[in-house]
Formats: sequence, structure tokens, C-alpha cells
Amino acid sequence: MFLTRLLDARPARAIPTQCAVCHDWDRDRICEACRTRFMAAVPRCLRCALRVPEGVRTCGACLTDPPAQDGALAAMDYGHPWDRLIGQFKFNAALDLAASLANSVENAWRTSGGTKPDLIVPVPLSDRRLRDRGFNQSWEIARRVAVRIGCLADAGLVLRIKDTPHQLAFPVEKRAANVKGAFAIEPRRVAEVRGKVIAILDDVMTTGATAAELARVLRQAGAAQVHAWVVARTPTPGG
Ligand SMILES: [Zn+2]
Ligand SMILES: [Zn+2]
Repeated sequence: MFLTRLLDARPARAIPTQCAVCHDWDRDRICEACRTRFMAAVPRCLRCALRVPEGVRTCGACLTDPPAQDGALAAMDYGHPWDRLIGQFKFNAALDLAASLANSVENAWRTSGGTKPDLIVPVPLSDRRLRDRGFNQSWEIARRVAVRIGCLADAGLVLRIKDTPHQLAFPVEKRAANVKGAFAIEPRRVAEVRGKVIAILDDVMTTGATAAELARVLRQAGAAQVHAWVVARTPTPGG
């Protein structure tokens, strides 16, 4: 009992650990130097989070064909060294990275000056994939971001009703069709969506097809606004 209290009293962030990128000792799994070097804030399209030139708010593609979501943000580009880190987090269950990745999304949200959502909803996995992996990587981040910014997170509001093959198995132009009809609001909770500002959280956005489909379902159920938040954005989805 006494030991428990002693441990509780110790500030958690003071415990040194190794940075997952450069392996230097730090209090965080992503050290300040690596954040500065590989995760500097860059101008991004407010609708799809792709990089845009300084001063541009919305990319050409979103002006021509606006996506289903009202806004988007990404903490980093999906590339070195974050692709390896996200792979470890997701496929090797490196859950000790969740807090640092959530911190990155929180920082991106603060930098964007965006409005606080009522609710953060992780992109749901199918039951089968959840069983295989043992956790939903998006939920692990969503719930931590929600605590940090002071809103709710809910992993039960949206269901994955179609067990679609992984998007990577499809060429870019086929990905929207692959996720079509994949999501539904939990039937007893549809009324909870009405009028809400909802942030969808995913680990990586490539074409944006998954976020767009989920945004469409939430808007159809009466959400006031839907934003797509991701840890990492693939810079050139078509390339
Ligand atoms: Zn580092
Ligand atoms: Zn855009």
C-alpha cells in the first residue's frame, strides 16, 4: 500500500525512457529534438491535410471536389521515421508509443487553432481484425487525445458492418468503392450524432477514402461538422 502511494506520487513524466527514433534518453518516447527535426508544423490543406504552399488554405483538389469532411489535420507526413514507428505501434503492439503519438495529434490540433469537437470517434475495426490485433490502434490514440483536449471519445458509436480487405490491397482508384457501406451508426444511438461536432481519428490517411466514407455516414445522421484527424498523412497518395 505504502509502495503504491510512493509510486503514484512520483511524477510519471520524470521517468527516463529512450526516444523511439534516435534512442537518446528522454522523458518521452519521441524526444524534443526528433519532434523539431522530423515533425515541424507545415501548412496543410484545411480539408484534406495534404501539404500546401504557405498562405494557401485549401488545395486545388478540395476546391474542385470538396471531400465529405469539413476539416482535416495531420501531425506528420507518413514517411521516415514515422512510417516505421507507426508500423511498430500497430503491427507489433508497441502501445508505449500511444501517448507520444496522441501528444503529436494534440499539438497539431492546437497549432491549427481548430474548434474543440464534442466527441472523438476512432475508425472502427472489424470484429475479426480487432480479435487478431487485440486492440484498435485508432482508439488507443483517440481516447488519449480526448483526455488531453477535454472532450469525449467513443469507440461504440460507429460500427464497422463490412469486413473490407485492407485498403493497401487496392489500387488508389478502387479504395473508395472498397469502403463504401463499411460503416453504420450503432442503431440505438443514432440520435446522439445530431448536431454534434465530431472528429474521426485514424492512424494514417492515404487517399482519404475511409475518412470520407465515415464522414458521409455521420453527416447523414445529422452531425453538424465532421473533421478527420490523423497521426500521419501520406504526402502523395497517387504517387
Ligand atoms: Zn529522438
Ligand atoms: Zn485538400
